[in-house]
Amino acid sequence: MSMSEELNKLRAQIDEVNGELLTLLSRRAELTKQIGDVKVAQGVNRFDPVRERDMLDMIVASNPGPFDNDTIRHLFKQIFKASLDLQQQDHQKVLLVSRKRQPEDTVVAIGDTVVGAGEKTIVAGPCSVETEEQVMKVAQSLSEQGVSLLRGGAFKPRTSPYDFQGLGETGLAILRRAADAYGLKVISEIVNPSDMEMAARYVDVVQIGARNMQNFELLKAAGDLNLPVFLKRGMSATVEEFLFAAEYIVSRGNSQVILCERGIRTYEKWTRNTLDISAVPLLKQESHLPVFVDITHSIGRRDIQIPIAKAALAAGADGLMLEVHPDPAVALSDANQQIDIPQFESFMDQMYSSGLVQREDKLVRS
Ligand code: PEP
Ligand code: MN
Repeated sequence: MSMSEELNKLRAQIDEVNGELLTLLSRRAELTKQIGDVKVAQGVNRFDPVRERDMLDMIVASNPGPFDNDTIRHLFKQIFKASLDLQQQDHQKVLLVSRKRQPEDTVVAIGDTVVGAGEKTIVAGPCSVETEEQVMKVAQSLSEQGVSLLRGGAFKPRTSPYDFQGLGETGLAILRRAADAYGLKVISEIVNPSDMEMAARYVDVVQIGARNMQNFELLKAAGDLNLPVFLKRGMSATVEEFLFAAEYIVSRGNSQVILCERGIRTYEKWTRNTLDISAVPLLKQESHLPVFVDITHSIGRRDIQIPIAKAALAAGADGLMLEVHPDPAVALSDANQQIDIPQFESFMDQMYSSGLVQREDKLVRS
């Protein structure tokens, strides 16, 4: 027999063994599923470490070689793990926020503004609410520009405890008055679960900030709300962790969640954070939730905002968030990155003239 004939014969035998292994694995999987059903009926936990240990000991005791015991243990642990996964309920494997669960896009309605239905939405306003006059000026500009979502921080999660912490409920009341005066909707960050009910009296959308993306009690409280939630990605969070954070909210019954990429921490110093543009199409692909990009906090500078905004929209973002202040130089927070009102007007002009964003007041609603 030639070398190649011999090789082919051995390969044919390997193929046969692969087939047998597959049959055995499938048989084992069927049995595991049946065991899972019995365990559910008995109300006992699917994972049984004592039984796993017994099985491993039994297998290793009859290991004929040539694999050593550690290798055999490792291989069988993989099989056990796959079997346990098979026993898990669907919802533990496929998240509610996943497109596998819901192929069609989630559309979030904030008054007349519909987010995630194809049109691009702008959220703008000051970093912090400072005075009524300040917010009124910004609100007026938003309404003139055909932008309907007014942002502003009343509870500011600041790195230093000595920095301006926000006006709290007074700030929310200012936002509400300004929004009502100009027919806008309010989006503002809440940092404490016990403030959710109070906030619902003032805001139309609750923001959960980057620093709180994994504040699970806050996420649960947002999940119990009857208001849309604007969830920002943690500055060191993976895309998967971000989606799990959203799952906390959706699994409590609140499906009105908007995701916002706001830049992640890297070694780069010329931008405040590094905008993870790949997160946008990834999130859109993996999840049915609308995705926004915060073009202020992600880069922390004004000079490249327009190309960044265009990149975000081209990557599939449903909208943009940006900070606007009547006089950024004297702002109590983020003075270096906010744009003033003329800059905002010019920004909006460029968004409209490029055709990337449509004026909301020109959108025909059905
Ligand atoms: C904000 O949007 O006001 C804010 C504090 O942003 P982030 O949570 O993304 O840092
Ligand atoms: Mn800010």
